Amino acid sequence: AGKSDGKGQFRFFDPALSATLKSKARLKHGLLEAIEREQFTLYYQPRVDTHTGELLSMEALLRWRHPALGMVSPAEFIPLAEASGLILRIGEMVIDMACAQLAAWQRAGARVVPVSINVSPKQFKRGGVKHQLTAALHRHGVAAALLEVEITESAMMGDQDEIIAELAAIRSLGVKLHVDDFGTGYSSLSQLQRLRMDVLKVDRAFTAELGTSREGRVFFQAIVSMAHALEMSVVAEGVETEQQLDILRALKCNEVQGYFIARPMPADDMQVMMERRFLLQPVETMDA
Ligand code: C2E
Ligand code: MG
Ligand code: MG
Ligand code: MG
Repeated sequence: AGKSDGKGQFRFFDPALSATLKSKARLKHGLLEAIEREQFTLYYQPRVDTHTGELLSMEALLRWRHPALGMVSPAEFIPLAEASGLILRIGEMVIDMACAQLAAWQRAGARVVPVSINVSPKQFKRGGVKHQLTAALHRHGVAAALLEVEITESAMMGDQDEIIAELAAIRSLGVKLHVDDFGTGYSSLSQLQRLRMDVLKVDRAFTAELGTSREGRVFFQAIVSMAHALEMSVVAEGVETEQQLDILRALKCNEVQGYFIARPMPADDMQVMMERRFLLQPVETMDA
């Protein structure tokens, strides 16, 4: 069966079972069952202020609790969910689950910070995302400022009028928009600013280059300064080492997310993080 180290990392050890996921027909059947049997759950990964280490927000990441395989990563099933159209049902469910969790944390008296959810371009093409967000926020009594939306850079390329209109409508609710995996597509920063994106999440491939090459650092620095000039905030994804964090501090990257700070975790563990509030040692500076 699938094995988990309890920290959001999952590996398959049984080739016969992992083959289950490789057969498209069986995977699709499994996804349908997973929706009906409520086998999906959200994990949460903190984003912290690069300078102070304060928990500022978090990302909701989907997990499938498979009865035989254990926790299955979205990388295994999102592509087929998108190809089969099931992403529309799953995406609506994710919006509801995130709002329900925010409401539960509020009832528990937690110091709640915003949650960002990943929205597939297929959901935007279909339309109605704004309506789903409004309905879920209202249903659970949650403020729009507590919800944020991530959309990959590649989803915004080209003349995608439906997506652009929907994004503008969502932003008008007070929901912040994040560009996910920035640097992997070909959109320009000025194009992203025209779309009024609030936050740029730089893909972890670029974070990985930070300690290893001067070019990597120069590239990241250019992204940060252009984003700031355009009044966008920058998040570094996939921060895994203290060295990367130190460089990102020097580059004035606003927020960091990655295994060095915390792995994705269940909601209860996330609540503990909210109470702790500062997840890194603050930086000592002479003029502080
Ligand atoms: P993403 O939105 O770019 O999410 C970040 C991914 O990087 C997550 O993988 C996270 O666990 C992983 N990660 C975080 N920190 C580190 C690190 O320091 N090192 C490394 N190597 N990885 C790190 P995850 O949870 O497996 O999700 C994979 C992708 O699946 C996400 O990439 C997102 O595109 C998609 N996804 C996840 N949840 C949803 C969802 O609810 N809806 C949709 N449509 N897509 C989702
Ligand atoms: Mg994301
Ligand atoms: Mg990403
Ligand atoms: Mg990604």
